[in-house]
Amino acid sequence: MTASNDRDNGIPEDVLASVRRLIEWAGDDPAREGLADTPGRVARAYREYFRGYDEDPARHLSRTFEEVGGYDEIVLLRDIAFQSHCEHHMAPIIGKAHIAYLPGDRVVGISKLARVLKGFASRLQVQERLTAEVADCIWEHLQPRGVAVVIEAAHACMSARGVNTPGVTMTTSRMMGVFREDERSRKEVLSLMGL
Ligand SMILES: [Zn+2]
Repeated sequence: MTASNDRDNGIPEDVLASVRRLIEWAGDDPAREGLADTPGRVARAYREYFRGYDEDPARHLSRTFEEVGGYDEIVLLRDIAFQSHCEHHMAPIIGKAHIAYLPGDRVVGISKLARVLKGFASRLQVQERLTAEVADCIWEHLQPRGVAVVIEAAHACMSARGVNTPGVTMTTSRMMGVFREDERSRKEVLSLMGL
């Protein structure tokens, strides 16, 4: 695909030019054959990585179910794989999240918790804020008795550059409601998460 086709696909010329300039800055020749279509691909990849700016993740929690058959225990979604990008280096953050809540009088379809995570992850992020945003969103829109979010992730800005330490993961957590106030509830949710 040529640059003119990329323009036809709605990718602005200055975006393509910026990627060509970065390739040149890295030390390569953006005009060589193997790189000719790269600016368009990078631009399209960016649209995909950052599609979270086009949505309000809370919308996934707008449809709730009140009929839960008397269920009043923890609902947990474990090991949700996700990808984000750090806002300091625009480098990948790759990890998994565990999201739990103790329902009040409504629950959501379980895939919705993963969609909330992915909505916030598809933006430039720091892991601490991502963790807080997911927890706050569930707290505010589901009005549960507790929310627990734990995220474990590797940061390419640390594993592939800088201190160059592959294999290191960072863990962040946010506990709200009963999971913050009651130690037994917190221990229970952490143990269900396998932590
Ligand atoms: Zn970074």
